[in-house]
Formats: sequence, C-alpha cells, structure tokens
Amino acid sequence: MSSSLTPLFLFATVAFGAELQRFEAVEPHMGTLVRIEVYVASEADAKAAFRSAFDRVAELDDILSDYKPDSELNRLPAHPGADLFRVLQAAQQLAHDSGGAFDITMGPVTRLWRSARQQHRLPDPAALGEALQHCGYRKLHLDRATRTLTVDDPAMQLDVGGIAKGYAADEALAVLTRAGVRSALVAMSGDLAFSDGPPGTRGWRIDAGGTVRELSNAAVSTSGDAEQHLEIGGLRYSHIIDPATGMGITRPITVTVVAPNAIESDGLATAVSVMGEVRGLELVRARHGASAVVRER
Ligand code: ADP
Ligand code: MG
Repeated sequence: MSSSLTPLFLFATVAFGAELQRFEAVEPHMGTLVRIEVYVASEADAKAAFRSAFDRVAELDDILSDYKPDSELNRLPAHPGADLFRVLQAAQQLAHDSGGAFDITMGPVTRLWRSARQQHRLPDPAALGEALQHCGYRKLHLDRATRTLTVDDPAMQLDVGGIAKGYAADEALAVLTRAGVRSALVAMSGDLAFSDGPPGTRGWRIDAGGTVRELSNAAVSTSGDAEQHLEIGGLRYSHIIDPATGMGITRPITVTVVAPNAIESDGLATAVSVMGEVRGLELVRARHGASAVVRER
C-alpha cells in the first residue's frame, strides 16, 4: 500500500479547558487501518505530525511485510538493518521465554494456512508436516555484537505478523513524541501505543479486557478477536498457530495485554493465545510492568 496515494482524513474537536485541540487521522497500512489521535495547537501541527508518523509505519511495512517479496524480512540478509534486527531480537527473546509458543519461524506453516483460509479448506496434512520441518526458532541465530543473522535451514521463512504491528505502533508514537506531541495515541487495529492522556485527564480511557482503564505511556494489545479465521466442521481455526502442532488454535479465547510498549504487548497477546490462561498468565507476570486479561469468547 502506498501512503502517498491514500487520503488523509482529518477530524478536529476543541478540547475543553485547554488550548490544545484534538485531531484524528486514519490511513491504511500493514493490511489494516491505522488510526492516530493527537492533541496539538494547530491543524498544521497535526498534519505534519500525522504525515511523519504514517510515513514511519509505511517504511516499517516495507521492511517487515511477508507479503512483499522484496521486503527485508523476505530477503533475510546476513546483516539486517536496525529495525528488522530489533524485531527479530524481541521475537527470539519471546520465543525463548514462551517455550516456543511464540515463533516467527512458522512462515512456511502460516503461508499454508493463509491459502487454506482463501480456499476454505484445511491445509493438507502432508504439506503441513513438510512445512513444519523448516520451522523452529532455535534454527534462527542472532549475533548482537555484529548484528548478524544466520539460519540453519535455507528454506526458513519468517512471519513477524504477531509482533510487527506493535513495533510499528511504538515507532509511530516515538515519531510523534520527537515532534513535540505529548498526548498521542496510535491504534493499529488491535495494538495501541499511547503517550500522555488528553489534556486535563489522567489517561486514555481504554477497554483493557472488559474494564475501561485510564492509562498513559503504555500499550494495549488484543489478540484472538478472530477477524481472520477458518471455520470447518464446527471448529474455528484461528490465524494464530500452535507451533507444536502447526494447527490454528481452536480454543475460543480473547487475550488483552497491557505492557510498557506495544512490541511487548503484541507479542505477549499472541503467545498467551497459544499457551492458554494458566501458562500464559505466568509468562506475563514474569514481565516487568505487564498484565493480561484472558476471556472465553
Ligand atoms: P492480530 O493482531 O492480527 O490478531 P496477532 O498479533 O494475534 O495478530 O498475530 C497473529 C499473526 O501472527 C498471524 O497472522 C501470523 O502472521 C503470526 N503468527 C501466528 N501464529 C504465531 C505464533 N505461534 N507465534 C508468532 N507469530 C504467529
Ligand atoms: Mg500479537
């Protein structure tokens, strides 16, 4: 998707008791609608802020997309750029901490499920078995000192769909903060990153798993809303895959995670969806500043 061709929708309302005005803009990026809300002094400030934040998201989409054949993610260079390397590092750390429930090396398997959803049939078991042989986070190695990536299997394909939107939300928010915007919220469908709440409030009012909370300088991700799923034989297969089996999870849960930033909340929400409530909440509790709510759908 080309951001330069997409219209920028602007809405403004005056915030009570403050000179700052609320502006909101929406653009399509990373296969979803990205919504940004800011409190700034003028429409010109808002427009400039929106442009730079959306441009950053578009830049990250070019790097991290597994749909774009020439994305850096798909080319898997030996020396990834700073953005890709940060995402891979966070993903590998989470893979380790979750005992492999979160695994970005499931690319061969997630691609099979993607076409299965399109064709409305389950993936062929033999093809799934073959694809699984090329997966496994232990076959992907990162060397921080030299920023080097090596893979044990040349057929390895990465899919950072479980963490990329969170990182993009964080980075868009960072752009806004650097531009001097103190009160901003970036929403990449289920992944939110936000700074100070609207002027005069204690925080953004956010539905964090059934209860509205006033939060600031944090992130909230919700997984398992099952926007993308495959329903066959009375079972609903999620686009979240259990790496242990290669199957879409069928456990009907919605996971909401609050964390210091969205790369963390996004990855954790996906991991907890695979691990289930008991093990998943243990994982979240071990993380500084993170909490989660797990609900049956
Ligand atoms: P969404 O916010 O779109 O619901 P999630 O953050 O829950 O997405 O991540 C789901 C996506 O993550 C899948 O579409 C796929 O690209 C990828 N994925 C699926 N299973 C796993 C897994 N076990 N570990 C890491 N990523 C996964
Ligand atoms: Mg996620």
